[in-house]
Amino acid sequence: MSTYPHTTRAGIKRVKELGLGCMEIEFVHGVRMNAERAGLVSETAKEEHIALSVHASYYVNLNSREPEKITASCQRILRAARIGSICGARNVVFHPAFYGDKSPEETYAIVKEHVSGMTDTLREEGCQILLSPEVMGKVSQFGTLEETLNLCSEIEGTTPCMDFAHWHARTGKANSYDEFSSILKLFEQKLGKKTLRQMHIHVSGIDYGPKGERKHLTLAESDFQYRDLLKALHNSGAGGTIICESPNQEEDALLLQKTYRALLNAET
Ligand SMILES: [Zn+2]
Repeated sequence: MSTYPHTTRAGIKRVKELGLGCMEIEFVHGVRMNAERAGLVSETAKEEHIALSVHASYYVNLNSREPEKITASCQRILRAARIGSICGARNVVFHPAFYGDKSPEETYAIVKEHVSGMTDTLREEGCQILLSPEVMGKVSQFGTLEETLNLCSEIEGTTPCMDFAHWHARTGKANSYDEFSSILKLFEQKLGKKTLRQMHIHVSGIDYGPKGERKHLTLAESDFQYRDLLKALHNSGAGGTIICESPNQEEDALLLQKTYRALLNAET
């Protein structure tokens, strides 16, 4: 947000300048980057030692009643995956589906079929990028904690996007050290220690109601217990990347980093 000009490569340099270590490229309104520019992004990220992920289009519903909308959804995710892969991104985050008039079980089976189809396609193309279904914040959206962990344990080539703010907003709970710790224990049981050490996490402040997520807030404005989350991550041996999605992105990212480092220093 504090980058000028507003380009991906300038963003990577700004992230480095701020002392942060990772960035998510937001293809949320579609991919407007060609392969050539993606190659330059990869070079810049390597030079600056910034780990990249990408976020696919918001216009995705793998459980649409209209088959052509499902095809278009897969194409959007695949396009983000292919360009993201050239950028050197490790994973592509996406919002899988809405339940609509189907049960969670039916929705799960349909989402699983399409996600498996996409990982097959990417593997055939030699594209190593991982697909990351996100834990979602609204009760109308596919993507509970359990659905996401099960999906990723069943399909090779996937890894979860653990959005702890979403899960808190959706349940009205999941906001204490003990709850975070048991989520991480479940994560490890389902996906193993190696995946626990390479987690992809979203964090922000969040406003919510009975239907879950309303909107993102800054950490200071919200009730989200990020210190407890960071403590639980550290104590459970988790590693990987945290993407901050607060409206004051850079500030809250730095706050998370500072808080995490203070936890590490307090130990030594
Ligand atoms: Zn998202």
